[in-house]
Amino acid sequence: MRLIIHRGTKEIGGSCVELKTSNSRLLIDLGMPLVNKKGEPFDSKILENKSLNELKELKLLPGITGLYKDEVKTTDAILISHSHLDHYGFLKYVHSDIPIYMSEGAKQLIKISDIFTPNKVGPINAKVVAKDKRVKIGDFVIIPYLVDHSAFDARAFLIEAEGKRLFYSGDFRGHGRKSILFKAMVDNPPKGIDCLLMEGSMLGRDKQLYENEDAVQAKIAKILRKRGNITFLFTSSQNIDRLVSAYKACLRTSSIFVIDIYTAFILDNLRKVSTNIPQFDWKNISIKFLKYHADMLAKAGYRDLLFIYNRSKIDMFEINRKKDKILMLARDNSIFPNIFKNIDNSKGSTIIYSMWEGYLTEEFKQYCNQKELKIELVHTSGHATLEDLKAFAGALKPKVLIPIHTFEPEKYPDLFNNVRVLNDGEVFEL
Ligand SMILES: [Zn+2]
Repeated sequence: MRLIIHRGTKEIGGSCVELKTSNSRLLIDLGMPLVNKKGEPFDSKILENKSLNELKELKLLPGITGLYKDEVKTTDAILISHSHLDHYGFLKYVHSDIPIYMSEGAKQLIKISDIFTPNKVGPINAKVVAKDKRVKIGDFVIIPYLVDHSAFDARAFLIEAEGKRLFYSGDFRGHGRKSILFKAMVDNPPKGIDCLLMEGSMLGRDKQLYENEDAVQAKIAKILRKRGNITFLFTSSQNIDRLVSAYKACLRTSSIFVIDIYTAFILDNLRKVSTNIPQFDWKNISIKFLKYHADMLAKAGYRDLLFIYNRSKIDMFEINRKKDKILMLARDNSIFPNIFKNIDNSKGSTIIYSMWEGYLTEEFKQYCNQKELKIELVHTSGHATLEDLKAFAGALKPKVLIPIHTFEPEKYPDLFNNVRVLNDGEVFEL
């Protein structure tokens, strides 16, 4: 089996791995980068109005033949580990006959992102892989594992071909709501791994503010108990673990969790994956309607749902009346100041900033200062700590460990055994 990491040996984001046997070819992930060649944030506008040829010439797309829409197809399948854009964002360029395997959760979330967000992939040939269910693609046998990550229903993959076994960790952690999966993997790891591709997002990052999702939940509840004024929660609506933590904190403190239509739609669609996910019609949940979201949902053909969601609607008048009992989901966008200005006597309100601190801009901090809006950082990472990475690598005992999805590959040899640092595009024979 031949391995090429087209992108991701020395960066977080844009992951793309190619596996080849004498008869078959498989890709794992085809993400949009998070940084450009200078290490600055990747601006997806650079992709607009460019032909596939231009994108290939500019090396924005990985140099793989037989993959893209304008080529003769020679790629048998693509596996997508999870629904973060840096793992699937380039699927829109892929030949429409290539099957794309992913979890049901990832399929739903990619569909929803296509409705509500600017980075769309369009129609894709999606096929669902259930956890632990073997899939045979050409020479490859794939065993998908459900893993704990901030993306819902994320997968790692064990791939066997030509007598070799490769494990792709995807993005994972051991301290989320599904930490039991991590423990199960470490206690009972797959055996005889020839090659492990392991993420290392946390290497080089500061120590975590909160150790795990439970600590985040406890802190949210503590803030809500103070009940000074309205509390906002800034987080991704696709971070289901975090929404569950927030909802549980609301239940503990008899608070109302106010979500938006976009979030209600996400939760509603993930019912088919798990019945434990809070829903818009559960107690202590209300929906604040935003015209922008309602219009997008209607345009996508879901107008009927708006009537159903309307039963759980909360308006500004009621929000003001109950504001000291409300945790309202929001984000740093153009909508937030419009909501905030409608809060009567907003002094003493709090934002629980529950996402990576790197997203918090100086501009927004200043805005909060002016408005006497207090920011509390309450977050835990979607990625494994060094301790968990060590436990993971120690359990799988690969013959070769190759760094991926990290800005610090050169740290691996000091931290783990049998490390081989590759370059993007380098061919590695297993
Ligand atoms: Zn991820």
